[in-house]
Amino acid sequence: MDISNETKFLMKKYNIKANKSLGQNFLVDGDIISNIVKSAEITENDVVIEIGPGLGTLTNELLKSAKKVICIELDKRMIQILQDRFYLFSNIEIINQDVLKLNLNEITEKEGESIKIVANLPYYITTPIIMKLLEDRLNIESITVMVQKEVANRLCAKTGTREAGAITYSIEYYTIPNKLFTVPNSSFIPMPNVESEVINLKIRKEKNQDVIDEKKLFKIIKYAFMQRRKTLINALQNTDEGKNKEHVKEILSKLNLDEKVRGEALSLNDFINISNLI
Ligand code: SAM
Repeated sequence: MDISNETKFLMKKYNIKANKSLGQNFLVDGDIISNIVKSAEITENDVVIEIGPGLGTLTNELLKSAKKVICIELDKRMIQILQDRFYLFSNIEIINQDVLKLNLNEITEKEGESIKIVANLPYYITTPIIMKLLEDRLNIESITVMVQKEVANRLCAKTGTREAGAITYSIEYYTIPNKLFTVPNSSFIPMPNVESEVINLKIRKEKNQDVIDEKKLFKIIKYAFMQRRKTLINALQNTDEGKNKEHVKEILSKLNLDEKVRGEALSLNDFINISNLI
């Protein structure tokens, strides 16, 4: 049975209607699924954490390549299907939880080395999930995920360009990002309104030694992008760090940056230098 028919069969058998508010768009293109698994470079030594396995279509392929697959799924209806579908597999663990509320460090510490995240993410919480995966500083190798195309463009943009947003700096700080391939709407049941893209984020294992205060760095970036059309000096004027305009001006001049520069024109290194001096 092809994946599209299999998906329809499972949905009928379990009386499932896709829940839009949970971002349920099920992948039904076998080539795309193989490509995701291939791009994630899963080997038999890897533990994969899959977020939102849904009906288990991607899970099925992951189970063939990985040492173990840990599935985290919020929708109880899917848990029953996954348990029925994979009852013969000894290398699967199914967790019925909201990934945003889960202590992922506990899981990764238990599993040890060589952990990779793979997912067709629920689009309504793409950013919080990715930020959680990065900020929790999990001991993982990589994140290979399908996201909305626009989000992929932003996440993988070059910092200092128009396509970048505050999150682009976090991505560059924690990872080496790569856009892999585009996925058309027709690869899903039901079809989403947007095109999708698979991206790979390779985790930087070493902490950036140049940064004195991470919290301050990301606070400055956040403020710079909250009003991205303003100059950096003006965007920071209501913050503890930037209220002394003269001080910020001096720092910019020390760093050979124009005093009228906007945050969106700055590289991650520029922000690091500024936050270290402020
Ligand atoms: N992996 C399946 C596939 O590719 O066909 C389903 C992907 S679907 C885009 C997203 C999945 O994430 C759904 O199964 C949904 O129930 C699940 N999900 C939504 N919110 C979640 C949350 N907070 N924690 C864990 N899973 C969630």
